Amino acid sequence: MFKFKIGDEVVVTAGRDKGKSGKVEKVLLFENKLIIAGVNIYKRHRKVTRTQAAGIYEIARPISLAKVALVCPKCGKTTRVGFKSEGNKKNRICKKCKGVI
Ligand SMILES: [Zn+2]
Repeated sequence: MFKFKIGDEVVVTAGRDKGKSGKVEKVLLFENKLIIAGVNIYKRHRKVTRTQAAGIYEIARPISLAKVALVCPKCGKTTRVGFKSEGNKKNRICKKCKGVI
């Protein structure tokens, strides 16, 4: 099981976007990276192709898991994620308020 899911609210804790927050858009399991809306934006200059107009496009690049912290929807604090199994289900829990995320 993975610590982050699509739609999670996260805060960047290191790097050039430190302090920014956003929602997880994509989880790159094998690279241990996340794509977060509005975070780690790079500008790409694109030429004209058949399917796209020329111009400057802003793209969210993947950011390493080590640089983000999850915001707990229950207590609103940044937290680490723990796991707890209940029967066959494994739930994510907030290490601070022990709530199921
Ligand atoms: Zn919490």
